[in-house]
Amino acid sequence: MKRVLVANRGEIAVRVIYALREMGIESVAVYSDADAEALHVKLADYAMRVGPPPASESYLNYYRIIAAAEASGAEAIHPGYGFLAENAEFARIVEEHGLTFIGPSPEAITQMGDKALAKKIMREAGVPVVPGSPGPLSSAGEAKEIAEEVGYPVLLKAVAGGGGRGMRVVREPAELERAFEMASAEAQAAFGDGRLYLEKFIERPRHIEVQVLGDGERAVHLGERECSIQRRHQKLIEEAPSPVVNPGLRKRLGEAAVRAAEAIGYRSAGTVEFIMDQEGNFYFIEMNTRIQVEHPVTEMITGVDLVKAQIRLAQGERLWLKQEDIALNGHSIEVRINAEDPLRDFAPNPGKIEVLHKPGGPGVRVDSHIYQGYVVPPHYDSLLAKLIVHGETREEARARMLRALEEFVIEGVKTTIPFHISVVSSEEFAQAEFDTKFLERFPYRERVEELIREVRGEGGG
Ligand code: ADP
Ligand code: ADP
Ligand code: MG
Repeated sequence: MKRVLVANRGEIAVRVIYALREMGIESVAVYSDADAEALHVKLADYAMRVGPPPASESYLNYYRIIAAAEASGAEAIHPGYGFLAENAEFARIVEEHGLTFIGPSPEAITQMGDKALAKKIMREAGVPVVPGSPGPLSSAGEAKEIAEEVGYPVLLKAVAGGGGRGMRVVREPAELERAFEMASAEAQAAFGDGRLYLEKFIERPRHIEVQVLGDGERAVHLGERECSIQRRHQKLIEEAPSPVVNPGLRKRLGEAAVRAAEAIGYRSAGTVEFIMDQEGNFYFIEMNTRIQVEHPVTEMITGVDLVKAQIRLAQGERLWLKQEDIALNGHSIEVRINAEDPLRDFAPNPGKIEVLHKPGGPGVRVDSHIYQGYVVPPHYDSLLAKLIVHGETREEARARMLRALEEFVIEGVKTTIPFHISVVSSEEFAQAEFDTKFLERFPYRERVEELIREVRGEGGG
């Protein structure tokens, strides 16, 4: 490949352009009118406008993206995450235009994009799945029967769900029918597909996911990431390796993930997500057929550049890694710094970055698209930067994260930095005592208020 179009924006567009530059491949950025001054546009070799600010008319508009690729002479398209990354129809149209989609085949995206079908394929491949409906539910009555079998509480999930949306916990039979109608209507509105499936609701699970690379025949795994610190099913802090996974469990998780990838002839980087109960049993929940937001923590401990790996695999290269080549080194933590106000229920807070200072020093990486003077547009997601650290041990990584968070200055918009300081400095985080419900219990508010007073110089400290 000589020239690749990056069909995305924000930090991930910048991340992909870095990889292309290091591989000697030219990059083509696309941008909406809201992003004319964005960093990915400035960094790319070429840039093409694809429409007005709403994503539906720009970053999600297949034909404008493909027209931009053809007009710019790009041979391939990297979709990043979000937007068109898990859209099988887009991947197919890209191929029909004689372009390469840097990701898995459209068939693999379709198989994993239907979450009920994905579970069926995994069950048949011998991967443990959460007990629940064998496929999409035909009615509330069927949901009730299956719920009786697996036992309450249960979770209704959208077959087409994603991004932490379209899920509903049902604690007793009397609630089920109404929950079914509401969840189905919500799924229809959000995903254009009202079909639901049902799972046993695992109380206080951990979210543990395994990174895989496949070449269509063979796959390897690159260890797990711990992503239990979530807000409304959206990850906020991730780390690798998981503090609760020992080598034996890692081997079993990794083997299950490799079986999952090989069962569908997976080609590219992908993530197999599991939830783990308090007894250490793990169950497949879904596979994400794209680069993941939290991929850097895996890169930090394996030394493998996952974006370059995606590009090489899309060019048809055979997998160059054997399982025994992959060694895990040290510990890495990532926090998602969002333009959100943690004191106002994480409400988005777009605006101008008046002052910016990024932390540095040993073991610190910042993946970001912001610069001083940049105006964060209100149209897209609120991620400003990912702060990633690496240390020899978890405790070194944790201390390094705290000192880097304390050094990070972003003025002009409210950010989640004080929130992250409150979590990372807590005893619970230090002891790795958390599950996906951790943030519902964690009292961050007072500490965040105190930190904001300190920054303003009102606290006398
Ligand atoms: P990851 O799974 O990579 O850890 P997220 O779950 O936050 O990260 O999803 C990555 C990005 O993709 C986010 O910006 C999220 O809002 C977006 N996203 C994921 N799934 C969907 C979807 N089905 N529809 C719209 N946006 C989605
Ligand atoms: P999405 O496609 O939106 O990422 P997932 O199926 O990956 O949806 O689930 C997102 C999150 O919801 C998980 O990380 C976990 O916190 C929670 N979750 C999913 N399934 C279950 C379950 N059966 N029991 C308890 N929590 C669950
Ligand atoms: Mg998920």
